[in-house]
Amino acid sequence: MKKLKLIGPITQVLTLDHLPLKGALMDDQLEIIEQAGILIEGEKILQVGKWESLCKAFPEAEIFELKGDFVVLPGMVDCHTHICFGGSRAKDFAMRNAGKTYLEIAQAGGGIWDTVTQTRKLSPSELAKITANHANRHLSEGVTTIEVKSGYGLSVEEELKMLRAIQEANRSTSADLVSTCLAAHMKPRDFSGSNSEYLEMISATLFPILKKEKLTNRIDAFVEKSAFSSDEISPYFQHAKEGGFDLTVHADQFSVGGSKVAVKFGARSADHLEASGDEEIQLLAQSNTIAVALPGASIGLGCAFTPARKLLDKGAALAIASDWNPGSAPMGDLMAQASILATFEKLSTAEVLAGITFRAAAALGLNDRGKLSAGQLADFILFPASDYREILYQQGKMKPVEVWKKGSKEVGRL
Ligand SMILES: [Zn+2]
Repeated sequence: MKKLKLIGPITQVLTLDHLPLKGALMDDQLEIIEQAGILIEGEKILQVGKWESLCKAFPEAEIFELKGDFVVLPGMVDCHTHICFGGSRAKDFAMRNAGKTYLEIAQAGGGIWDTVTQTRKLSPSELAKITANHANRHLSEGVTTIEVKSGYGLSVEEELKMLRAIQEANRSTSADLVSTCLAAHMKPRDFSGSNSEYLEMISATLFPILKKEKLTNRIDAFVEKSAFSSDEISPYFQHAKEGGFDLTVHADQFSVGGSKVAVKFGARSADHLEASGDEEIQLLAQSNTIAVALPGASIGLGCAFTPARKLLDKGAALAIASDWNPGSAPMGDLMAQASILATFEKLSTAEVLAGITFRAAAALGLNDRGKLSAGQLADFILFPASDYREILYQQGKMKPVEVWKKGSKEVGRL
């Protein structure tokens, strides 16, 4: 038997257990254990229960005694980021806010191609270091599992460089990084063929290497007028599915179409959805595809939010992710963004917390995290509060004072 650790007493533990994957939630559905303890064995939770009874039942456990009021949540899961990148797009941000168009920004050397150029210039180890730094910042704010996309390489070699850098970063941070291949972000400027020819080249050349090197099991694509159409992406997704990859889609950000493709191919998630209408919402609600809201992109671009309320009311599974990227979502603060989304979309605290924990984990195909119950990973975060509602109320300004990842204290501000 591995050594036991017992943390407590905790004023409130929100387990996020016994909640449905899909649909609206009310706060009185939240399981809250008061004066609680968390018993850990190795990387996993053995039991969550009353502090006093756990102390009595497991006298051999190493005690991590807390003094004061604390609320504990499962470690957050950010199921959509682009934190592997070079350069900064601060100039674009200023130009966009000053009213310049997408075209004017691109003509001034900005836009996504600038990030591709800056990312291609970096060595694999420089890129891994940047990615690990971003991951560690996220971890210190309570995000213990982070999806990271490629998509700023846009050639076989450069996409491989990014995915290997993410793999290297994963070895140097305590957060879990889940990589995704987004070679279908856009057709690169230096590829002379058509969109379909680019996608064919990627699926024929890159996919087998991803499998062989175990670089990722996830394929993403940007389905949008400015990137790839539904018709163009269908054979690409078919190929990926036949290869055994999980799918995820940048869908309905500015125009609809992506969510339909996501549902048709049984994608794990359809992300963005700012432009989704009743038809798309209905379709997602009837599917097993998780709808992912990205409030950071709405805040970064000054655009409408994902219709999160409607999605939940129709019965969809809603996750919330940061979309942390250098262009449209530079903030990278998941709790702040989720809290802001709640005020605009009228989400209950339970819906927000589910969206950044177990529902986000489901978007990544993970069921071993996002809840605090026996058998789950011991990933949890402590906030200096006596009432869980204080956390969203402070709109991201309250940071966790301790972050535990796989049974070890990784961040301690206490
Ligand atoms: Zn994105």
